[in-house]
Amino acid sequence: LTRREVRPEGTVVSIGPARIGDGRLAVFAGPCAVESREQMDAVVSTVAAGNGVVGLRGGAFKPRTSPYAFHGLKWSGLDLLQEAREKTGLPILTEVVDTRHVERVAEIADAFQIGARNMQNFELLREVGETGRPVVLKRGFGCTVDETLSAAEYILAAGNDQVILCERGIRTFEHATRFTLDISAVALLKQRSHLPVMVDPSHSTGLPNLVAPVSLAAVAAGADALLIDVHAQPEQALCDGAQALRPSGFHELMGRLEMLVLGL
Ligand code: PEP
Repeated sequence: LTRREVRPEGTVVSIGPARIGDGRLAVFAGPCAVESREQMDAVVSTVAAGNGVVGLRGGAFKPRTSPYAFHGLKWSGLDLLQEAREKTGLPILTEVVDTRHVERVAEIADAFQIGARNMQNFELLREVGETGRPVVLKRGFGCTVDETLSAAEYILAAGNDQVILCERGIRTFEHATRFTLDISAVALLKQRSHLPVMVDPSHSTGLPNLVAPVSLAAVAAGADALLIDVHAQPEQALCDGAQALRPSGFHELMGRLEMLVLGL
């Protein structure tokens, strides 16, 4: 169901008023984790002002490597995301981590995110598939392109073709970056599948100075969308602050993207 031949013209995914895969670049931005109302207010004013931003990202449920790390505000984080949508009019993209949460998360989220660590949680894939709600499926960092397409197949087989594939870096011997963004996978996924492709330069590089160049490379490789971490005070972030762009860096990136897309 995911193969390009099934729909040669490509699939357009609708998240609220946003259309992903229609030929225009779609940017989703926001904090890695929702932390407080003050933090959300600071970040959404930046993001909402960014020309070209079509959606707000933010994690309320955070799967973390350490059981002692911040795991998100959970349901109260979703309430803050709902408030942010009311303030900005931007649709909400947020991670769902558990089959038991799907129905309740769907009451607030405009699109589900399936994180890298859950890409092969097949029950979760089936469950989000059955909702018909758009899904951003992040590539597992130890998974191949074929395995990524196979995971997407579970969602489509459940009757939901509103799937965006997200390249977010894979694990290699290189430790200068957090993960290694597989740029060839972006072009390959576009050739092999009709589904739109998103790139996450924040989680893949882990370095704010690489977010802009890698974003530009992703667009050149054919990405339909970008997922960017933004935080007003990255040094105080409770989750992955090291990779977040400050508001000034985010505005600069949006300017450079505009020049690239417009060919200026
Ligand atoms: C995220 O985008 O919030 C996230 C945790 O990313 P990943 O699942 O790719 O690690």
